[in-house]
Amino acid sequence: MGGTEDTTTCAIAGGGPAGMMLGLILARAGVDVVVLEKHDDFLRDFRGDTVHPSTLDVLDELGVGARFARLPQRRVSRMAVVTDAERLVVADLSRLRGRHPYIALVPQWDFLDFLAEEAARFPGFTLKMGCEVLDASGGRLRYRCAQGVDRTLRAALVVVANGRNSTLRAGFPLHEIGAPMDVAWFALPKEPDDPDELFLRVSRGRLVAMIDRGTHWQCGYVVRKGMNVDDPHVVGENVAELIPWLADRARALETTSTLRVAVNRLKRWYRPGLLCLGDAAHAMSPIGGVGINLAIQDAVAAANRLARPLRDGTLDVADLAAVQRRRMPATVLVQGFQRAAQGRLVAPTLAGAPPKLPPPRVMARLRGPLARLVAYGGRPEHVRV
Ligand SMILES: Cc1cc2nc3c(=O)[nH]c(=O)nc-3n(C[C@H](O)[C@H](O)[C@H](O)COP(=O)(O)OP(=O)(O)OC[C@H]3O[C@@H](n4cnc5c(N)ncnc54)[C@H](O)[C@@H]3O)c2cc1C
Repeated sequence: MGGTEDTTTCAIAGGGPAGMMLGLILARAGVDVVVLEKHDDFLRDFRGDTVHPSTLDVLDELGVGARFARLPQRRVSRMAVVTDAERLVVADLSRLRGRHPYIALVPQWDFLDFLAEEAARFPGFTLKMGCEVLDASGGRLRYRCAQGVDRTLRAALVVVANGRNSTLRAGFPLHEIGAPMDVAWFALPKEPDDPDELFLRVSRGRLVAMIDRGTHWQCGYVVRKGMNVDDPHVVGENVAELIPWLADRARALETTSTLRVAVNRLKRWYRPGLLCLGDAAHAMSPIGGVGINLAIQDAVAAANRLARPLRDGTLDVADLAAVQRRRMPATVLVQGFQRAAQGRLVAPTLAGAPPKLPPPRVMARLRGPLARLVAYGGRPEHVRV
């Protein structure tokens, strides 16, 4: 590549789960790909570290499942909700029949480093770290690396996969679903006598999600949308009251990191020469921890449909429309479930009502479908290229 204008076949803005998985599968299928990631590394905390059964199946299909299994990870199968009165298992993945009846908890930077290493085996793959995409249009994007000059990259297809806050999707009509909450994330040390599980503790006015990371708890304290949660002592005190066996550690909390939750989706994911995927096409709520899963499924579906026309130089806008048609129903289904959980449990609880869970008989009927939704999303995708 020389001068300030380069060309490739597929240019991907954003090296998150969607962008990296798409880059890997397309490069493996013989398509030239450039992924541009604005950060210098993947080392960012609280990005969501869950690798679900459908993604584990995709890794097997790519022939890299055994190598992935060697990464340090923790496996969990059960998700529970703990109220003042009871503990209810809401999803139990161990009862699913697939090859991987569990969620692998792997720091997202390890997962993305892993995808980058696997993709680098293919000559058509280029990853440019520390390069921010400034604007994107059909067949062209402009980017800048580390204070350098602005460069243009031309491509048969530009993929916008730079997450929920993407400004590159400006101009695309948005269907806003909204969320009643934001989340203060933090880590607390785990001790040998602590329970081993993934649970949501709910009580009037308060919710905290607890993710067992083996050496520590990754915790998400849920607050009403827009509320200031800058004071770690307030968060720590609330968590101490909710989970007494964690009280000493919670009261010693010193820092939290607030994530503003958004739930929305584009009405149209594409225009000629450009396609939005992952959170850039549909920002997901953290409920169910399924955003990474969906982003990866988008990437698999897109690669399946687009690899051949990209290789043959026959890409048409109808191919991009087909990707949206395939992935929209799964997006609507999962966001519908998240909206229901937000409306029935999160919003009333945050407003001070006692948490209302489905009666045991209904819960028993929901447990299987919920486990399948968390494990596979609405429509599992398989690598076909
Ligand atoms: C509080 C919270 C907790 C969550 N927890 C979970 C969880 O436990 N499990 C789960 O599955 N999902 C979780 N999610 C959702 C999940 O994080 C996302 O759905 C998923 O990461 C989307 O992947 P993506 O590749 O589409 O986008 P992202 O992961 O957002 O990746 C986008 C990438 O683009 C880069 N980028 C941004 N702008 C530019 C630019 N202009 N140029 C170049 N690069 C750019 C970013 O640095 C980033 O690396 C959570 C979300 C929230 C808000």
